[in-house]
Amino acid sequence: MLKAERYRHFLDYFIKNQPAPVTELHYNNPYQLLVAVILSAQCTDKRINQITPALFERFPDAESLAASNSEEIFTYIRSVSYPNNKAKHLAGMGKMLVEVFNGQIPSGLDDLQKLPGVGRKTANVIASVIFDAPTIAVDTHVFRVANRIGLTTRARTPLAVELQLTEHLPKETLGVAHHWLILHGRYICVARSPKCEICPLSWFCKYYQQINTETALQKAEALKIRKAKDAKKKKALNTISKQLAKRSVDKDI
Ligand code: SF4
Repeated sequence: MLKAERYRHFLDYFIKNQPAPVTELHYNNPYQLLVAVILSAQCTDKRINQITPALFERFPDAESLAASNSEEIFTYIRSVSYPNNKAKHLAGMGKMLVEVFNGQIPSGLDDLQKLPGVGRKTANVIASVIFDAPTIAVDTHVFRVANRIGLTTRARTPLAVELQLTEHLPKETLGVAHHWLILHGRYICVARSPKCEICPLSWFCKYYQQINTETALQKAEALKIRKAKDAKKKKALNTISKQLAKRSVDKDI
């Protein structure tokens, strides 16, 4: 199947079945989304949603975050992954937002990436979700699922995946495609044992076709070996039977 056809089937399926996907992180404004996305690195959205209500109550904006320090922030985020680093990032991020960006979340990818704790992926999420920029953030789910389906070819880095998806997907679908791929990777195309048997994309998924082709080849090979063994056994039995018949004739003589 051509890659262009895969893209068409991918878009057809999700536009029809999941026309308006959204992030599972809870937030009420750009500042809260930025904090939640920084915290969500290497952690589950469920865990982040458990701790952000108290965090946002204590630190409702960049100013309150800037006026605090990483030790205090740590006490609110201790149950997420890498709490020490993330507390330092949030403290630094709050200060930079206040001192450099007047307490506002910048819209440009370059400015966003100047903030402590904000890499390309987080910057893309904010640019896309908050500012409607035609960008796609590539996290571990997007990376894995895009490669498996066959939307990307030999894309070894998140940036390579981002560039290939950006090249092939219509601009207006980049934001939603990010959510489609994340949700599909979180619930069906999971890392260790993808649930291909219930996956609605299996009929055009490259990974699924490869696995099935390999299985079919293995089955054909096993059948060939069994047939050869059966033929050998049959031949041996025929020889024994002929020898027995010859002995019986010799005896009669
Ligand atoms: S068929 Fe399997 S590998 Fe392909 S997208 Fe679905 S779950 Fe993932």
